[in-house]
Amino acid sequence: MSANDTELIRAATCLLTLRHSSVSKTSYGLRTAIGRVFVALNVRIPGAAPCSICAEQVAAGMAVANGESEIECVVSIGIWRTGQPEVLMPCVMCREFLTALGNRFNIPAQS
Ligand SMILES: [Zn+2]
Repeated sequence: MSANDTELIRAATCLLTLRHSSVSKTSYGLRTAIGRVFVALNVRIPGAAPCSICAEQVAAGMAVANGESEIECVVSIGIWRTGQPEVLMPCVMCREFLTALGNRFNIPAQS
């Protein structure tokens, strides 16, 4: 894992630690090919699953809105099982979404 990967994990973990709530328990970090970093939270509205959105899609939308098109590295962080932030695999829908963007990317392993 590179120093940039470690920094991406730190940025996503920091955001989740600061902002997690009953509707946001996952954060996502995305680094583009030119080194720009975008971090975001999921928004899960209980009882309104089709209206909820994963952090991966929020961050990808932020990147695209800022003119980015090439993703280099991604990481998902969640506070779920242990009550502490940990690296997670993006959900199936987000893995498909990220692949459909057409980029190759790396997912750093748990540190
Ligand atoms: Zn997802």
